[in-house]
Amino acid sequence: MRDRVIDTSMYGPQNATKIAVAGSFPLEEAEQRAFFRLVREREQEIPDLRFVFAVPNGGGRSKAEAGALKAQGVRRGVPDVCFPFPRGGYAGWWGELKRQNGVPSDLSEEQAQWLLWLREQGHRAGWHKGGLAMFADLMEYLALPEARR
Ligand SMILES: [Mg+2]
Repeated sequence: MRDRVIDTSMYGPQNATKIAVAGSFPLEEAEQRAFFRLVREREQEIPDLRFVFAVPNGGGRSKAEAGALKAQGVRRGVPDVCFPFPRGGYAGWWGELKRQNGVPSDLSEEQAQWLLWLREQGHRAGWHKGGLAMFADLMEYLALPEARR
């Protein structure tokens, strides 16, 4: 069941229609597109956003594709998005994206483990319910003081 109002404008016209019709939460992929739409929209204003990137570790793929990516070093459970620079005493920022109706059990064991490892190494690493929530966390991180060199 839908338990909060969804702002469909951030998903683009096609997805917005689908969401409105289906009355369901956007898929994680749509959330990630929405997240990067926000990132690109604000890049001029906040140049650090140019260093935010996605890790191609998830989503549906064939066995052959999965095997090829694994051979190329893609690791299961690595968070979806990274900003690799330090702020506020953290080593870097990592975000694992879930749908807006996400629950902790949506995290795979590997995903939970990676978040823990990253935190142990001084990163800010967490999971977020939707692209907007994740973007808000990233903006909070970017507002932290830069490390002195
Ligand atoms: Mg994810």
